[in-house]
This record gives sequence, structure tokens and C-alpha cells, in this order.
Amino acid sequence: MNQDNCENPFPKNEQLQEKGTLYLVATPIGNLGDITLRALETLRSVDAIAAEDTRQTVKLLNHFEIKKPLFSYFEHNKNVKGGYIIKLLEEGKNIALVSDAGSPGISDPGEDIVKLAEQNGINVTMIPGPVAAVAGLVLSGLPTGRFVFEGFLPMNKRTRKERILSLKNETRTIIFYEAPHKLIYTLNDLLDILGDRRISLARELTKKYEEIKRCMLSEALQFYNNEPPRGEFVLVLEGISEQVLEEEEREKWESVSLEQHVKIYTEMGLDKKEAIRKVAEDKGLSKRDVYNELVRNQNI
Ligand code: SAM
Repeated sequence: MNQDNCENPFPKNEQLQEKGTLYLVATPIGNLGDITLRALETLRSVDAIAAEDTRQTVKLLNHFEIKKPLFSYFEHNKNVKGGYIIKLLEEGKNIALVSDAGSPGISDPGEDIVKLAEQNGINVTMIPGPVAAVAGLVLSGLPTGRFVFEGFLPMNKRTRKERILSLKNETRTIIFYEAPHKLIYTLNDLLDILGDRRISLARELTKKYEEIKRCMLSEALQFYNNEPPRGEFVLVLEGISEQVLEEEEREKWESVSLEQHVKIYTEMGLDKKEAIRKVAEDKGLSKRDVYNELVRNQNI
């Protein structure tokens, strides 16, 4: 394993070997059987483990009979503890970072320590494993070829609304994380702002009561209004279809006359020929039709 950064593209191997390695170790999202052999090997071989929630990680370590020095690294101590982790790595110690569940760095602490390690010329590697978002996506029945991960929506009303609005014309499948007590609130906002569409709600993934509900947003809302949601959720929402987007774009231009429409583009700096091409595209007409109409109205 050799990692270079752009500022020092050819660091000497001895230089890297003096320092320890930071291992980002993915852990199960429910079912302990999903731990990988490499994750176990790594947790057994490192000098210490940094954990988002030590109580949670102790359970995992006890289950696999692993005894290691353990300390916390989470959102509210990450600045202080980040420096401590780097100090240990610089002394040549190998450190594993685990989160509560799944892959560190995905809606979990991890991102900052990778940046810090990179800035300090420290090797970082990952022991890949479960990610709730990926499990939810592949089980959704929605297109998986192109997708976006949105994680948790912001709680601040305005930022939340703006974030959802920014997804209005998103054609890719959209993945969110959500806690049970906020589910109805989120389904309501998504329906209000994005309109009704297909959604898949995956809860308790890999656990005994795993459940996938594939339906329309409005149906999900109706269902969970009658039955309080339980367990953590991955929400996978259908993106808007290219066809609907094109129709909406056409409707937007419907009330604008051809002359005004061409003028908008020429005022934006396009020459007349290019403006006519754009107008034809927006209105779903041929360039010839637009041109003939303009001639008829004596605008050319
Ligand atoms: N780092 C984790 C990962 O790789 O998936 C995600 C951590 S984030 C703090 C926790 C969120 O992940 C939960 O609120 C839920 O949305 C989702 N999640 C985690 N485990 C899950 C499970 N077993 N079933 C459904 N969703 C889960």
C-alpha cells in the first residue's frame, strides 16, 4: 500500500513506513454475521481503536473476543481527538476507526480524520463492508445506474426546504437516511415539494424484522400515519423522468411568444440563428417552423 499526495508525489517509502496506518473499518449495520474477515483481522492487529460510540463498539468487540485499547472519536470531540489520533499514528501506532454501524465517513465521523491524515502524510486505508445506503438502493427496485446520496436532510426549516427544492429536477435516484421519529415529517416535505412519486422505504436492514416497502410517497405517508414507524430507515426516491422534465420546460415557455422568446436569447448574447435553434428546442418545434412563423409575423 503506497499513498502519495499531489504536493509530495514521490515520498520515500521509509518515510511512510515510520508512521502508522489509519484503517477505516466498516462494521455490520445490524447483523453481526456481516463483519468481514479482514475487519476482524484488522481490529485484532491494530494498536488501538477509535470509536464513535465506545459502548456500542465494546459489544462488537466482546462478541468477537477482541481486547484492545478503545477511545472515543465523535462529532463533538473530533478536533481534539483528531489531533490525538494523528499523534499516535506519527509515533508509528496503527489505529482503526469504527463508527456505530456501517462505513465510517458515510453520515458518520470519518471524513475529517481522512483529510487530517492526508495533510500529515499518513497512510489511510479502508476495510470495506456494509453501507445502509447501498443495501437500501439495490433493494429499492428503482434505477441503480445513476444515483445521488443525500444522507440526512437538514433540520433547519429554510435550509431543508432549499435542499429538497434543489432536488426537484434531479433525474437520478435519490437516497436519504432517516430516523423513525422524523419519518412522517420528511415524507410530508418530500411530497409537498417534489410531488407524488415512487419511493422505497427500507428499515431494519440485515436484522430479523427487515422490511422493504415499495409504493408511492402519498401511500407511504398514509401508511405511517396509521402505524408509527419503528427502526432506522433508508429512503430511496425516484428521480424525475427526462420526459416529464422536457414537458415542464415546454409548459414554462408556452405563454411566451416566439418573438419574445427569441429576444430573451439574443439579449443573452446569442446570435439570431443560435437563438432560433434554442427556441425550437424549448418549444419542441423544428427550426424551420420557428423561422417561418417569425417571417410571417415580419420579425425577420
Ligand atoms: N455509516 C452508516 C452507513 O454506512 O450506512 C450510516 C450511519 S448514519 C449515522 C445512520 C443511518 O443509517 C440511520 O439513521 C438509517 O437511516 C441508516 N441505517 C443504518 N443502519 C440501518 C439499517 N439496519 N436499516 C436501515 N437503515 C439503516
